[in-house]
Amino acid sequence: MRLNRHILACPAFLLVLAAISASAAASRAIAKTQGRVLLLMVWDGLRPDLMNARDTPNLFALANEGVLFAHHHAVFPTITMVNAAALATGGEPDNTGILDDWMYLRPSLKDSNDLPGLGALLNTPLGLENSKNLAALNGIEGFNGYLVGVEGVAQQIIRNSGYVAIVGKQGPTYLFDDQADRRTTNSSDYLFVADDLARPQLSPTPLDEKRLRVGDLNSISERDQWFASLLMSKALPAARAASLRGHPALIIFWQHNPDLVQHIAGLGTQPALNALHECDANLGRIRQMLAKLGIAHRTDVIVASDHGFATIRMSVSLADLLVGAGIKKSASSTDIIVARNGGNDLVYLSPAAYETKEARRATLARIVDFAEAQEWCGVIFSKEAASPGGTTNRDNRLGWIPGTFAQEMFGLYDPHRSPDLIISFREIPDLDNRGLTGPVNPAFAVGSSGQAVGKNASFPLIRPITGAVYSDSRSLSTGQGMHGSAGARELQSFCAATGPGFRRHFVDPTPSGNADVATTIRRLFGLNTPAGASGRVLREALNHAEPAAGSASERILTSYLVLQGQEVVSKLRLTNYDGRDYIDDSSVARKPLNGSP
Ligand SMILES: [Zn+2]
Repeated sequence: MRLNRHILACPAFLLVLAAISASAAASRAIAKTQGRVLLLMVWDGLRPDLMNARDTPNLFALANEGVLFAHHHAVFPTITMVNAAALATGGEPDNTGILDDWMYLRPSLKDSNDLPGLGALLNTPLGLENSKNLAALNGIEGFNGYLVGVEGVAQQIIRNSGYVAIVGKQGPTYLFDDQADRRTTNSSDYLFVADDLARPQLSPTPLDEKRLRVGDLNSISERDQWFASLLMSKALPAARAASLRGHPALIIFWQHNPDLVQHIAGLGTQPALNALHECDANLGRIRQMLAKLGIAHRTDVIVASDHGFATIRMSVSLADLLVGAGIKKSASSTDIIVARNGGNDLVYLSPAAYETKEARRATLARIVDFAEAQEWCGVIFSKEAASPGGTTNRDNRLGWIPGTFAQEMFGLYDPHRSPDLIISFREIPDLDNRGLTGPVNPAFAVGSSGQAVGKNASFPLIRPITGAVYSDSRSLSTGQGMHGSAGARELQSFCAATGPGFRRHFVDPTPSGNADVATTIRRLFGLNTPAGASGRVLREALNHAEPAAGSASERILTSYLVLQGQEVVSKLRLTNYDGRDYIDDSSVARKPLNGSP
């Protein structure tokens, strides 16, 4: 066709041409995302330094073939549910509302007595690694569908007529779809299987076919293997069918291990090394099945861990210590409630017991002064920033209680659900576990009656691993494993990706974090970013890489507290990149003041 100059000069015709080329670009973009399959496999608690050719050959091969995110971060608190919410939505705790595994939620609910199945359980901190608790919290009398404050990627895929399968550990899986318990979608579009909830109902296989028994370490890896088999027999063929119809497919697989075995046996023990090998075997089987089904070339595989890990140096019972110090009335009193989360604790003051702001401030300052004087204490985040015109600003980010940082400056402040204090226990990143892990080592616990020696429940050590942490957990001893603090060994988590969406043979030195993973998955599927998702697109790692956004800069923030005879210096080390802060590490040093002994 020949066009005369008059038509070419006609503005209306140019608009039509522009519209045609725009729609062609849009359909090319859709074509690229059509039929895309993405598998996000989470190895709970995998430390990046435990990935190697010998223990995890399949993961090592995946990381070499695609992108290894070499400076990847967990979100603080370095706890499963916090990071599951980040991986699911791209949001941090201030937007997701998920601040720990154990939270005291009663003050944020209008009438907690009406929540079916929970009731009195809400008088104390509630464990969130439980689909039924989560479903009850999210019911009409509770958060009414807003348990997680940011829409998840999986939920967007469901709205866009894609296929979604979410399989694995109870708790984190539910955060990928906080509507899972009420979905009536058929099995060609949807699969949800956690330890304690399945949709559609599994038939004829009962959910407890391979029941997990904590304490029976073999049952944990058998459980993960069972999930992997379910994924291969049900989820992957359904994802393939959706993909061939041109629909997107997203599969989430959350393994219990290596986390659960590392908690019980300890890092570097035979069972922990075995668990790494078994997680890796599951990855190998799944990738073989992707190839067998002929969808490997259209499937992106991301392997991530929710948080790192450390060895428990000493058990600390913060609630007992506060009673012993005369700050909390008794172990069962509700004036001060402590939610134990291993490497960190959440502290809530009762609004009824502390009616005025000054009364709250005075008690919080007593708790901070008491804790910061102890060897086990790490950095503390208080709920409010210092008053305007006071000492808080973007440069120092101090909290309203002396010696603390402000939750709101670190994505930790949810006005309804935040505790008054988040106390991180101290991590010693370079101490290895030779004197800690193994039944021959002593185990120490500190409570209201001082320090006591107890039984060390860890397994014999095979390979020493660095990183020790003080921990508040009734059930775990010195030498066993924990996480949750703002220390480097727990903040460093693992991430690698391969597939058509990612570069090949690329080690990415740019800072990245778990919230970024969800935002990047959205980019690959061509989905919008919902309100509250603050993660960045990991664009430097994508195939057809987009330019990186400048360089990263490091900052150290310092908070000082002067106590009788000593000065406590708390430091937080951050990396800023592309407008995002990643917490790298923290430390607390106690120095005698001049003139003090
Ligand atoms: Zn975890």
